[in-house]
Amino acid sequence: MDFNLTEDDLMIQETAADLAAKKIYPNAEKWDEEGKLPQDILDEMAELGYFGMLLPEKYDGLELSTVTYNCAMEELSAACAGLMITISVHNSLCCEAINKFGSEELKDKYLPNMAAGKIIGAYCLTEPNAGTDAASIKTSAVKKGDKYVLNGTKTFVTNGGLAGVFIVFAVTDPEKGSKGISCFVVPKDTPGIDIGAPEKKMGMKASDTREVSFTDVEIDAMNIIGAEGSGFKTAVILLNNGRIGVAFQAIGIARAAFEEALKYSKERKQFGRSLSSFQAIQFKLADMAAKIDAGRLLAFRAAWMKDNGVNVAKESSMAKLVCSQACNWVVNEAVQIHGGYGYMKEYAVERYFRDARVTEIYEGTTEAQKMVISRQLLRD
Ligand SMILES: Cc1cc2nc3c(=O)[nH]c(=O)nc-3n(C[C@H](O)[C@H](O)[C@H](O)COP(=O)(O)OP(=O)(O)OC[C@H]3O[C@@H](n4cnc5c(N)ncnc54)[C@H](O)[C@@H]3O)c2cc1C
Repeated sequence: MDFNLTEDDLMIQETAADLAAKKIYPNAEKWDEEGKLPQDILDEMAELGYFGMLLPEKYDGLELSTVTYNCAMEELSAACAGLMITISVHNSLCCEAINKFGSEELKDKYLPNMAAGKIIGAYCLTEPNAGTDAASIKTSAVKKGDKYVLNGTKTFVTNGGLAGVFIVFAVTDPEKGSKGISCFVVPKDTPGIDIGAPEKKMGMKASDTREVSFTDVEIDAMNIIGAEGSGFKTAVILLNNGRIGVAFQAIGIARAAFEEALKYSKERKQFGRSLSSFQAIQFKLADMAAKIDAGRLLAFRAAWMKDNGVNVAKESSMAKLVCSQACNWVVNEAVQIHGGYGYMKEYAVERYFRDARVTEIYEGTTEAQKMVISRQLLRD
């Protein structure tokens, strides 16, 4: 077994770490305060290829493996998790939806512009009354001639206000349950789309989250991704991949919080000694480091399996489950090591603490991951 990253992995990781140190981390607090990302960072990331990381070269993508891509994602997340999720949803859920399941026509039409960051994607599955129970969505897509007409509301849509295309899951046959759900590419400028105001969130504030409603939105029938009725399966496969990204996101946040806590514990003195000289603090640091490494190994295993064509339903859920729980545990300890200062906005751990929370919620809650894992265990 070889635990070494390849030269390509290391190169992408170092490039991302350099960008994160120079351009992202120094601005992350400001973007968190302002609740949005400036266009210039999105433009710069587009220029560097961050919007086409998984896409084939023939669509102007970088065609990175899941392992290599996630080496970069961990670095972005450690600097600004809100920026990372903006990029990650676009790449792993939206570009991949079209690349893996779309027609050649859809790929030619959308992927080069998505790789260039000219069109950003948003993934619209969750509805006000359908979250964990995603198969119960009510948004409908009714076929009329060579068009589908969409009606419904999607909630908590990451990139809702930035998107040029929405990947929308809608019911085409209400009689068939999850087998009656289909997936569509919906261009933002189609009449009948209403994009809500940015949600006011606990964390990930730099990311854009909105409600998106569709009222009699007519799209060409060719905008269906995959066969009619295959949408739920598509959503599940995409989320298996997306969860690997959230696992690396969680590890990025946890690592950053750990590094802050380690540094602070050496600088801060109480009782005439550094905090790091107390065994109680040393043990916290040891536990934090061990949990981060354990989570990262699970995340790399899932990424590696995906790159090797193995079904990762169980392993991506295990990685997300363990990494997001470890992340929340680690950020809590990082705040604790900072004492009262950790509760103040001047210290980055306050932001990491808020950003960490959603890693246990989106792309399937902690409970949803346990459902996936136990279902697989009982099936075997
Ligand atoms: C910041 C943010 C960004 C998001 N971005 C997107 C996006 O881009 N696209 C998108 O489609 N969605 C997005 N989501 C939605 C996210 O995926 C959902 O919030 C998540 O799947 C949970 O759904 P819910 O909020 O409706 O909670 P619910 O499903 O109502 O669950 C509430 C609680 O009950 C638990 N629960 C539910 N069912 C069971 C059960 N059977 N057994 C045990 N426990 C159960 C859950 O685990 C949870 O703890 C985002 C959410 C947030 C907060």
